[in-house]
Amino acid sequence: MENHLEKSGLNDGLSCEQLFSSSEGLTYNDFLILPGFVDFPADSVDLSAPLTKNITLKAPLVSSPMDTVTEADMAIAMALCGGIGIIHHNCTPEYQANEVHKVKNYKHGFIRDPAVLSPDNTIADVLIAKSKNGFTGYPITANGKLGGSLLGLVSSRDIDFRENQPQLKLGEIMTKVDELITAPNGVTLQEANEILEKSRKGKLPIVNDAGELVALIARTDLKKARIYPNASKDSNKQLLVGAAVGTREEDKERIALLVENGVDVIVLDSSQGNSIYQINMIKYIKKTYPVLQVIGGNVVTRAQAKNLIDAGADGLRVGMGSGSICITQEVMACGCPQATAVYQVSNYARQFGVPVIADGGIQSVGHIIKALAIGASTVMMGSLLAGTSESPGEYFFSDGIRLKKYRGMGSLEAMQRKDAKGSAMSRYYHTDVDKLHVAQGVSGTIVDKGSALRFLPYIKCGAQHSCQDIGARSIEELKKMIYTGELRFVRRTQSAQIEGNVHGLFSYEKHLF
Ligand code: IMP
Repeated sequence: MENHLEKSGLNDGLSCEQLFSSSEGLTYNDFLILPGFVDFPADSVDLSAPLTKNITLKAPLVSSPMDTVTEADMAIAMALCGGIGIIHHNCTPEYQANEVHKVKNYKHGFIRDPAVLSPDNTIADVLIAKSKNGFTGYPITANGKLGGSLLGLVSSRDIDFRENQPQLKLGEIMTKVDELITAPNGVTLQEANEILEKSRKGKLPIVNDAGELVALIARTDLKKARIYPNASKDSNKQLLVGAAVGTREEDKERIALLVENGVDVIVLDSSQGNSIYQINMIKYIKKTYPVLQVIGGNVVTRAQAKNLIDAGADGLRVGMGSGSICITQEVMACGCPQATAVYQVSNYARQFGVPVIADGGIQSVGHIIKALAIGASTVMMGSLLAGTSESPGEYFFSDGIRLKKYRGMGSLEAMQRKDAKGSAMSRYYHTDVDKLHVAQGVSGTIVDKGSALRFLPYIKCGAQHSCQDIGARSIEELKKMIYTGELRFVRRTQSAQIEGNVHGLFSYEKHLF
């Protein structure tokens, strides 16, 4: 693509190369992109972008492998919206592999781990479950678990007007199995849909030949299932999912388990990826599992990137010290301002066809577009997704505000995790014999953001509008515009940054969508 502006002499601002030519390190807030020419609607902008050499996403969005950001629920939401989630590894290999399994076996509308009660549970138990889960329909099995013999179903109709009899057993009031409409295991979503439509019921239990409950379909989920035409899927039509691992010898067993469960991409999770351990691990994975995609990192310089690309990395994760919960730059005195790192590494890695993930410091849609406009193919988000209903952890209230925990994987709290999920972090090179942990992250809270399934469409729509302003019909075109010099940038002084934010108001409310 030619740079027409150059010919016309109306080349305002700087090319990307000029923007990063000074030795100063830049962040996303230090520059803006100049607008281009609009001759297409925003909703036609194609957001497809490569995650690795062999995986292309419909949206350039990746969720961070952190234990307060990505487990199966988040990974499912990310994939449904065209991105991908990377399951964290601050847990046992079995726990992580099971989260991968849940994503790979997710079927639109099919609930594979429904909440189940037993005939000995009471109305009081249903009311407690309702306050936790937000719904009243529960299948009843003999042992009160998924996989038990289906005996009946309790719905709001069965408990309405009986709230004053909390000790009444569900076995006495449930709709019994012979009055229920069920579907056999293996039923397609379309068939299930037709059965539900005819029966006019809210829930459809799926049972195997032995009459045991294997899944549930809810009418409300079926409605949702129709609105994700751009989900990220493999050739089997299963959702894509990634998983993070360390570079220790025992991580090889973890990888084997993840592969067995169908993981699509492995992210080698290290704050400083340019190490002999990582190089050896990349080589091992490429030799043992030739089709499995491997993302190396984190790196912030071209020399670091070179070693991982030479070892065979299919993608790179860029960022050191830019994360919202990160104190790496302060404590280790090591790192790089994020925009400079993203530009330098992307510009180098593109010669080898290796896509770059801009990881950390993404606070808004604008930051996402800036990362893509200086060479990244995708962005990885932690804080932007923490606090959604799909992130792990329970909500709690503080001073009347609904919050969730968000913590760095290098915080003391995360490194010393001791609960049922187990701990396995090696991101910060600590070993069991280390007497002292040096924290590189903090632990904090984040305000309730509602569902990622509402937030991600906002991000995508915002990104499309931004591309329209810039005059790029797709992320691919945006990439080309960087290197022809057609994409123009301006540096932002401190006062320009103040001007670009809301100012001069006594008070205001900021609602994003
Ligand atoms: P955020 O999107 O700005 O919140 O940054 C998330 C990113 O921060 C992650 O994807 C990691 O690369 C990085 N990160 C996670 N935990 C820590 C930590 O404890 N210290 C430093 N960086 C971290």
